[in-house]
Amino acid sequence: MDMEITIQRTTAPKEKPQIEGIPFGTYFSDHMFLMNYETGKGWYDPRIVPYGPLSLDPSTMVLHYAQEIFEGLKAYRTADGKIQLFRPTENIARMNRSAEKMCIPPVPEDIYLKALKTLVEVDKDWVPSEPDTSLYIRPFIIATDKHVGVHASHTYLFMIITCPVGSYYPEGLNPVKIAIESREVRAVRGGTGFAKCGGNYAASLHASELAESKGFSQVLWLDGVEQKYIEEVGAMNVMFKIDGKIVTPSLAKGTVLPGITRKSAIQVLSDWGYEIQERDLSVDELIAACESGKLEEAWGVGTAAVVSPIGEIIYQDKEHVINGFQIGALTQKLYDTITGIQWGKTADPYGWVVPVC
Ligand SMILES: *Cc1c(COP(=O)(O)O)cnc(C)c1O
Repeated sequence: MDMEITIQRTTAPKEKPQIEGIPFGTYFSDHMFLMNYETGKGWYDPRIVPYGPLSLDPSTMVLHYAQEIFEGLKAYRTADGKIQLFRPTENIARMNRSAEKMCIPPVPEDIYLKALKTLVEVDKDWVPSEPDTSLYIRPFIIATDKHVGVHASHTYLFMIITCPVGSYYPEGLNPVKIAIESREVRAVRGGTGFAKCGGNYAASLHASELAESKGFSQVLWLDGVEQKYIEEVGAMNVMFKIDGKIVTPSLAKGTVLPGITRKSAIQVLSDWGYEIQERDLSVDELIAACESGKLEEAWGVGTAAVVSPIGEIIYQDKEHVINGFQIGALTQKLYDTITGIQWGKTADPYGWVVPVC
């Protein structure tokens, strides 16, 4: 499908915020992308317009039944001033898998990629150049039928907004404390765990708030059937180095979000010769590995933080320190390698980066 994206440029460009110390996801750039869908007509009217509020009827379906999906990726500025995306076609494919689960029509891949590139190019001055900064890109789709009553919508709005972000952890790559959650769950077999949908996040807030109030930065989620196997950490996938091998929860049950950082880390680690085990890992096995000293390193992986070292886990009120609450050597090397490719500091042997301009 070849659809032209119309571009209406702002006549009142905003002042760019100071990137140092900028809170994540707060300042948005000058433009946004929109495209509508209607049953029988398909996706139509792809357009870039000045960033601004939407006007929605109070009965708009997404507001009541949460038929919504989203994505998250970044545009990076290289040392020579060019701008590139990291594996955007993976985000596009994943969004369409989320769409299928949520009864949302898929977005044609070519128009999606063109929308990402065109929007970033229109707002290229918003891609910061300071170290560890990037332009965060948030595509999302909402159900827009004006109707109260439960069924899949017939109309949708696909949008992309972007915002300049600094380093996810302003104090640098520091280990975090996480709490194993043994009461509430994030996802169940047959549910929406593999889909990137707002509803998953809404349902996770209660446990996360509780953990935060106790001084932990993230929740380590267990499976929803036996509440025994590790699934994810906060909104990141999780990896462990146990006795020299890399263990990460498998995607087979559909309860773990298939992260693109996870997939990239697995590729890099296996190329370094590590044995990767994508399998069930029970909390008992993890705690035993920790107590016997076999748990060497633990970290979360996701677009926002890229790699986030885990320094301590608490389970049933008992604290377990990992690697002396220090960033592990492998965690650091993985962070340096993936971010090196993203910012064009190191060669990209995988063809992961896609130039924008
Ligand atoms: C987005 C997300 C991740 C990480 O995926 P990336 O593609 O690496 O950013 C992990 N877990 C959950 C629940 C997510 O929503």
